Amino acid sequence: MNRRHFIKTSALASGLLASRGWTNSSPHQNRMMGIQIQPHNMYDEGIEQSLDLLQRTANVNALFLLSHGYYVARGRAPEVLAPDHGWTVRDERKRSMPKVWIRHHESFYKDTTLRHYQNRPDEEYWDSDIFKELQKVRSERGVKLYARLYEPNQLVDDSGKPRGWIKNWESVLTEDLFGHAGSGPCWNNPDYRAWLRATMADMFTHYDLDGLQYGAERVGPLSEVLYRGFVPACFCQYCRKRNAEKGIDPVRAKTGYTRLYELIQNAEKKDYPPDGLMTTIMRTLFEYHEIMGWYYQWFAAEREILSMIYDTVKSINKDAEVGWHIDHQRSTWDRFYRAACSYQDMAQKADFIKPILYHEIMGPRMKGWVIAEWKTKLFSELTEEQIVQNFYAFNGYDPNRQPRYEQLSDQGFSPQYVYREMERVHKAIGEQAKIYAGIGLDIPWNNQPFPSDPGSIYEATMNAYKAGSDGIVISREYDECRVPNLKAVGRAARDWREMKG
Ligand SMILES: [Zn+2]
Repeated sequence: MNRRHFIKTSALASGLLASRGWTNSSPHQNRMMGIQIQPHNMYDEGIEQSLDLLQRTANVNALFLLSHGYYVARGRAPEVLAPDHGWTVRDERKRSMPKVWIRHHESFYKDTTLRHYQNRPDEEYWDSDIFKELQKVRSERGVKLYARLYEPNQLVDDSGKPRGWIKNWESVLTEDLFGHAGSGPCWNNPDYRAWLRATMADMFTHYDLDGLQYGAERVGPLSEVLYRGFVPACFCQYCRKRNAEKGIDPVRAKTGYTRLYELIQNAEKKDYPPDGLMTTIMRTLFEYHEIMGWYYQWFAAEREILSMIYDTVKSINKDAEVGWHIDHQRSTWDRFYRAACSYQDMAQKADFIKPILYHEIMGPRMKGWVIAEWKTKLFSELTEEQIVQNFYAFNGYDPNRQPRYEQLSDQGFSPQYVYREMERVHKAIGEQAKIYAGIGLDIPWNNQPFPSDPGSIYEATMNAYKAGSDGIVISREYDECRVPNLKAVGRAARDWREMKG
């Protein structure tokens, strides 16, 4: 369906549906209320039934629908999935799902050796064509369709063996300091970039979509080594060439990163240099300025990818809204990333930015993902409580309203966190791009339920609006969101509209 025809059809549909409260013309409906959802949820619950639930509870007007399942929450226990959607939840660990929810066309992939996964007939819904199947409800209900695509990651199993989901994937992986293959693609690899470009062109040529949400949940070599003690990457031939052309010596960069790696290895054994860990890290950065240059170029390569994606989609459908998913480490705790990649830079080629602002699960994540790593590495000279208080101070969170270290496992961050982070994005980009706050509902922890509190979800949603959000994307996954929390988001949106119009 072309765009003009769609608008005409929508206009007709909105007249028919006005009495049911789904009209396109209400201001409430115009403000983004999206939800991240996986296609199998809609087939499980029924397309009409799931949309009824979403529109009844939160007045959802946009689906951020997974186009590819190369990187997504999977293998979850039934206890963490919402029990109140009106169907009997099944154990995802015993199910086999497709990795590709759309149809691909070979002619688009002439410039790349990579090929998408071919769904197998023994996978549930393997033959579905979700964006095509949703065109009818899209026009009837005025609900928008956004493709949600994240950079493939999870392409090796727990033993490090490639899963073979994407043909030739091994050829585009990063190369670490010691010459070993990393777990993700190199952003400077021309074959990977060509595959990404082909995927976007293929998808937007064949489907009438309202937009795209793309993101890569990755960090750079400085964070890999200092926060997590990983062997840093990438030092492949394409990265060496790129950096050499920028005047950054690859040999000195490798030597500098090796020194950092050794410092962190020793810190994990509580073996500290005479001047202490932090001072010696800083000395290494002074001596090997190539470390910082290499790190900055890594994200410059990602900005080129985002720009390429933006231009590719716009060249096919100029009305499609293209925006970036900013994952939790990037939106919140990776200070190196935040320093290297400003929201202002990101917004130069974006129609919207969607930062993850999951306040409740931030408590367990801070303790289990962040402090557990930092305490034995970069910040091993501080106590856990000192790390937490420093983190609050640097990020501008009110320590009196956030949990102390020992409370992090049980308590989420307060909704003040959502306000502060949203305010930061808004001040950085102003009206340059829209901002859709990613509000997290019922996100599990370690495959155990960590249920949201509707009052806290209401306040977080209101805070997002107060700090300048143009809309909300309910996250992380629809199938985790319990009805009272969906209703809390809907109530906040309604109250905000009544206050502000
Ligand atoms: Zn590389």
